[in-house]
Amino acid sequence: MSGVWVFTENKDGELLTVSKEALAAARRVADGLGQPLTALVFGQDVSAVAAAAFDLGADAVLGADDATLAPFRLEAVGPLATRLVQEREPAVLIAGGSTRGRDLAAWVAADLDAGLVADAIDLAVDGDTVKVTRPVYAGKLMADVFVTGGVQVLTTRSRAFAAAESAGNSGTAEWVAPAVTEEEIPTTVVGFEGKEGKVSLTDASIIVSGGRGVGGPEGFAPVQELADVLGGALGASRAAVDAGWIPYEHQVGQTGKTVSPDLYIASGISGAIQHQAGMRTSKLIVAVNKDPDAPIFKLAHYGIVGDLFQVLPALTAEFKKRL
Ligand SMILES: Cc1cc2nc3c(=O)[nH]c(=O)nc-3n(C[C@H](O)[C@H](O)[C@H](O)COP(=O)(O)OP(=O)(O)OC[C@H]3O[C@@H](n4cnc5c(N)ncnc54)[C@H](O)[C@@H]3O)c2cc1C
Repeated sequence: MSGVWVFTENKDGELLTVSKEALAAARRVADGLGQPLTALVFGQDVSAVAAAAFDLGADAVLGADDATLAPFRLEAVGPLATRLVQEREPAVLIAGGSTRGRDLAAWVAADLDAGLVADAIDLAVDGDTVKVTRPVYAGKLMADVFVTGGVQVLTTRSRAFAAAESAGNSGTAEWVAPAVTEEEIPTTVVGFEGKEGKVSLTDASIIVSGGRGVGGPEGFAPVQELADVLGGALGASRAAVDAGWIPYEHQVGQTGKTVSPDLYIASGISGAIQHQAGMRTSKLIVAVNKDPDAPIFKLAHYGIVGDLFQVLPALTAEFKKRL
């Protein structure tokens, strides 16, 4: 088995950020192993995506360009990825930690009875094996995990790796046929409903979150205002979501989204272990809470003891002046 493969995702002819991060992580692994990096590019009209994968450091591109592969359906992409891995036997398959990347990794690993390590925040090479560092026990510990034997299937945590940058590479992709026909795919995608203008939580470099301390749906207004002035996304604790103050898509934590922004501002959030599980790998954590003993202050790099309804508007006004 030889070679490092990275599964990439694309939308509107462009590689997604999560795939650029996976490409950078996979490049590091390929260099460590001294093996070539191959990017998998699946979709329709994806020649520009293949060119972008070369530009971002792939040595080779293995692609499939077919209407059955766009939009993404696991029942079409999964069998294709499995077939290619079976035929060509790469040593490592890496996917970004999006829903699709995680689905695909699980599909291939289950099909091939291979070991899978999810949620890598660091990857290093140890002999012929990749050492995967991933958080365990809700992020309280970091574990180094290895897949021994067979293809090593890995997923990366979103925003744990810097996105690959243009390396100026180019090349000629190899195009293969899909593994299944439209008739064999049991699902049909009827459309997408986009949320225009909203910053996605998992992609956001800045997140401002509110918890039970905001006191009601209207209490999210100052949280949203601070997020807007910083160009960030709006997060929430489960208590606020369960109370019906904000939709589930904003929930951060063990049963919500896992995020790693450059800046995470937690306001009116106590810092329960299940909330920490989703945000403790944030690079800079600021907590605003009126209780000086709130557990969030143990995790925060900066803490402001005070009423969020005074502190957040003051921060918003100050950032407005300075930005
Ligand atoms: C299986 C399981 C999964 C879970 N998954 C998640 C998850 O994914 N995400 C998650 O968040 N939780 C999760 N929880 C729930 C978690 O245990 C906590 O109950 C929840 O995180 C608490 O939310 P909170 O911090 O907003 O509320 P609280 O713990 O009630 O804290 C509210 C905080 O607001 C402060 N406050 C109040 N008023 C103000 C004010 N005006 N200004 C400033 N501060 C103020 C208070 O001092 C307090 O610290 C899960 C629990 C279980 C059992």
